[in-house]
Amino acid sequence: MKKSIAIIGGGSAGLFLATFLDSEKWDISLYEQQKTLGRKFLVAGDGGFNLTHSDTLEWLIQRYSPSSFLQSSLSRFTNNDFQQYLGDIGIPTFIGSSKRVFPKEGIKPIHVLNAFLEKIQENKVKLFTQYRWQGWLEGQLIFETPSSSSTNIENQIKVIHDISVFALGGGSWKITGSTGDWLSKFQERGVKCQALYPSNCGYQIEWPVAFIEKAGGQPLKNISISVDDQNQKGEVVITNYGLEGNAIYALSPTIRKYLQNNQPCTIEIDLKPQLSEEEINHRIKTHSKEKMSYILRQHIKLSPIKVMLLKTFTSKDDFLHPHRIAHHIKGLKLIIHRPTNIDQAISTVGGIELSEVNEDFEFHKIPNNYCIGEMLNWDAPTGGYLLQGCASMAHYLAQHLNRDQ
Ligand SMILES: Cc1cc2nc3c(=O)[nH]c(=O)nc-3n(C[C@H](O)[C@H](O)[C@H](O)COP(=O)(O)OP(=O)(O)OC[C@H]3O[C@@H](n4cnc5c(N)ncnc54)[C@H](O)[C@@H]3O)c2cc1C
Repeated sequence: MKKSIAIIGGGSAGLFLATFLDSEKWDISLYEQQKTLGRKFLVAGDGGFNLTHSDTLEWLIQRYSPSSFLQSSLSRFTNNDFQQYLGDIGIPTFIGSSKRVFPKEGIKPIHVLNAFLEKIQENKVKLFTQYRWQGWLEGQLIFETPSSSSTNIENQIKVIHDISVFALGGGSWKITGSTGDWLSKFQERGVKCQALYPSNCGYQIEWPVAFIEKAGGQPLKNISISVDDQNQKGEVVITNYGLEGNAIYALSPTIRKYLQNNQPCTIEIDLKPQLSEEEINHRIKTHSKEKMSYILRQHIKLSPIKVMLLKTFTSKDDFLHPHRIAHHIKGLKLIIHRPTNIDQAISTVGGIELSEVNEDFEFHKIPNNYCIGEMLNWDAPTGGYLLQGCASMAHYLAQHLNRDQ
């Protein structure tokens, strides 16, 4: 006789699990509080849809923190396996120049989602949308639905399954359903959790008003940003509140260490990674009869916005001094005081502490209950690593459950 499994949360990790489980062995029910599944998955597809990244396995594993946590899952279901799987369900992919993996041209995010939805239909998954999980009662899962909605627990829906897997997501983009409201329910069961905190997010910088009035919305392209020994090439956009973009998102774990300790974090922006400080210095000296702003634009090839940034964040003396301005170009210091609003973050960290689950993602304190996806306290940069992490965890858990049944 088949055992029954409840997947609670129909986002990326829940959907992946529902496709990977063996329906010959499991009677699968998927509960989701929204009217439709995969809302954040669709949001992820809105910009460039990075389904995974084509790094070598060794390097891929290193991109996760802590890397040891996902090593087994990533090794069993690699980025190549994920691309192969996507191809098998009708979503061919290609590797972009950034080594990120995208769906082939013409394939929209909704097509990718639909491919997973078709797969779960084939897998005879029973769908319960607008089912909002509220907690447990004597081993039963409690759900609020539009018809049962009531503060009275008697009126709420109670179901019992042999196994429950929680895939309730992190705490950003609440509109997609990832509200993080589940945290207190697990704390009540003695599960150690950390408050959710933005990752892969923009950071606040106190721009002078005169600067931001002119510079707001403009990109800083071909830069690299350093914090401590971490360095990331890419670009950022100057926003009214600070900076956002791939060159800063990826530094989130290092920046976070400062901010969570209530310390400001100093970042250094290399505005001209292609040239050494010596070369910049040499070019400035060669053209010393010309105006500095002109030299920077014409001979160092800095964009007007980079020159404006240098003028704003250096003293007049430094700006006009060949050595000193060359030094600032290679490492302009800016101070971050806080991250942007958590709801705007691409992902969050915090949530269930990793020590609370075993190597198969089962809660030590709540047997037969498992947890995968962004609910757990791991981190990875943008660029396909987040979805790959969810897919690898889902696959690893499905293999464990399919094997044991
Ligand atoms: C703007 C943006 C762009 C992104 N781009 C990329 C990208 O290109 N590549 C990449 O790899 N990643 C990207 N991500 C991140 C990626 O989408 C997430 O990491 C991933 O979706 C997390 O999957 P999850 O299943 O853990 O959580 P979610 O996908 O957030 O799913 C959680 C689900 O649980 C449901 N839920 C929550 N509480 C309850 C409850 N009480 N009862 C019932 N259901 C509940 C929610 O409604 C939701 O559907 C992006 C994210 C954002 C916001």
